[in-house]
Amino acid sequence: MNVIELKDIKKTYHLLGEVDVPVLRDIDLTIEQGEFVAIMGQSGSGKSTLLNILGLLDKPSEGLYKLAGIEISKYSNNELAALRSHYLGFVFQQFNLLPKLTILENITLPLVYSGSKNVQQHEDPSKLLEMLELSERITHRPSEISGGQQQRVAIARALINKPLIIFADEPTGNLDTKSTKEIIKILKNLNFSGVTIVMVTHEIELTTYATRIIKIQDGLILSDDKNESKNSNTSEHYFRQFKHKSFSLARIKDYCAQAFVSLIGNKMRSILSILGVMIGVASLIAMLAVGTGAKKSIEDQVSGLGSNLLMVSSCLSQKQGIFYDAGTRMRILEEDIRDLEANISEIEDDGIVGYITVRGQVVAKGNNYNTRIEGVSSNFSKTRGSYPVLGRFFTKDEDNLRMRVAVLGKTVVREIFGNENFNPVGEYIKINRINFQVIGVLPIKGSKGWRDEDDKVLIPLNTAMYRFAGSKELCYLDVQIKNTVDMNEVGEDIKTRLLFTHRLPSSERDAVRVINMAEVQAAMEAMGKAFSLLLGSIAFISLLVGGIGIMNIMFVSVSERTKEIGLRKAIGASNADILFQFIIESIFICCVGGLIGVTVGAGISFIINKFADWDTIITPFSIVLGFNFSVFIGLIFGVWPARKASLLNPIDALRHD
Ligand code: ADP
Ligand code: MG
Repeated sequence: MNVIELKDIKKTYHLLGEVDVPVLRDIDLTIEQGEFVAIMGQSGSGKSTLLNILGLLDKPSEGLYKLAGIEISKYSNNELAALRSHYLGFVFQQFNLLPKLTILENITLPLVYSGSKNVQQHEDPSKLLEMLELSERITHRPSEISGGQQQRVAIARALINKPLIIFADEPTGNLDTKSTKEIIKILKNLNFSGVTIVMVTHEIELTTYATRIIKIQDGLILSDDKNESKNSNTSEHYFRQFKHKSFSLARIKDYCAQAFVSLIGNKMRSILSILGVMIGVASLIAMLAVGTGAKKSIEDQVSGLGSNLLMVSSCLSQKQGIFYDAGTRMRILEEDIRDLEANISEIEDDGIVGYITVRGQVVAKGNNYNTRIEGVSSNFSKTRGSYPVLGRFFTKDEDNLRMRVAVLGKTVVREIFGNENFNPVGEYIKINRINFQVIGVLPIKGSKGWRDEDDKVLIPLNTAMYRFAGSKELCYLDVQIKNTVDMNEVGEDIKTRLLFTHRLPSSERDAVRVINMAEVQAAMEAMGKAFSLLLGSIAFISLLVGGIGIMNIMFVSVSERTKEIGLRKAIGASNADILFQFIIESIFICCVGGLIGVTVGAGISFIINKFADWDTIITPFSIVLGFNFSVFIGLIFGVWPARKASLLNPIDALRHD
């Protein structure tokens, strides 16, 4: 029976920018089952090209090729893979063992793709190893054994699925004389047991075992000599009914095992890939946490500002961004508060708070603490919505009588009494050596990153003027305006009124400043918006950087693996087999990298929070985004190049470097 029939086979390589090279020209050839064919010819005559076509590793440019009576161009790629898997065995000059797998794993690799589970369908690996005298080597790696042994491993791999035809391309080309003899004996025995063998060789002495010698020159068959002693022991070998091997989920375990062996076998590559994913995820999460924290801090500041407040100040004047004492100073006094309230109807009743600020040394229980002392009007608590969490605020009477009472911020409580939660109401403290009684504690305002709003002591305005300032001049006024009026207009009215009462000409309008807090608030809101935009860009850029990192490492590792893909296909892997293994590897890498990335990102945010005293906020959104995006990118770039490689002819992938 003719197992191989070639008719007018041509193969031409198209090289870019060069003339087409015809490598095979009109090859007509039939090979019967049980033959041992030696193909000979000069280097470059087209022997390997022919053998690769015969072994379904390459496709002819023109011509007909019937394998077991069926024209191979009728087969799909999957069916070709199945044919390679079940009926053909290939032995290469370069052995092509997978370096990270053990001898046993190399030999049994084709079983992953043939799906042969029981011993009837394939050779017993241990018997094969025994026959090829490799039994002691099964846990070694290919690099740990000699060339002759490696080639025997490659032969065992070719035999594991009980092939009907073995193709060998100069199998002894890299071996010494002794190993050459062993290999040729093995092939001879195989042929004797009924396997058809097609071997390319240089060496005349090898051909004594062949039943047929075909000489090739310049892509044409020069001579074809048949030896009489053709082995006829082929009765029990017939081309089994070809059944299309479909991809099955039942083999997911095999794919996982392959993926796992491959990940473990290439620790460095796996670690680098995981690192790539990790950096992408971690940077995104950390960046977003910092950004979100900053945004939150701005929002807190904004919400802490009253929106209908005007700040009237004479202490400082600002020109071109530089603070300095203005030429003409207006001394704002407590009388001005009453005057403004009485004359400008748009001001809320009792809506003006006067301020004096000094630094002060606070002492209690032997603790010494330097802080901001603010003298404020008694309506401070009401107008700023800042009601004491413990105790009470001072009254108008206490202010007028210059009582020595104080309301403390939480930071001061902590610094003086050692514990933020201590209740100091009723305790006595000294402020600049003067005794005060604590009557209340302010609520926490927080606002880290800016001024600590809890680091202050409030005392009555008149007490502050009398005890510490030595003058009646106020630093600034908070003026609460009735809703639904134009704040800037009221601001101008206030200026005009103050100039009038202080008998200043209207050319001295700069002597008093009115700041519209609504405008400040709007500016800060705009800043918050800008921050959101910034955050978006940061997220986008870190995703991009992370994505490119992942892409690079995946791409590099996969193009390095094109050769491996070629080999896997040569021994029977279908495209789906290859893809599935790579998908599993990528998912594993991405998930591990992603999880570590989330942890590291959270860790970085935590450290920034701790040491930079900057609020960082990790949102579930950033975790989901970072993780999913990286896994997505990792999958795409882990699988896409593998898919590209798997679409190559096996021989092209194998030759890849
Ligand atoms: P050999 O008989 O030594 O095995 P080959 O079949 O490997 O010869 O190669 C035959 C000719 O085809 C050589 O001239 C070689 O340069 C050319 N050739 C082989 N493979 C390719 C390829 N992938 N692209 C272009 N030319 C090739
Ligand atoms: Mg060759």
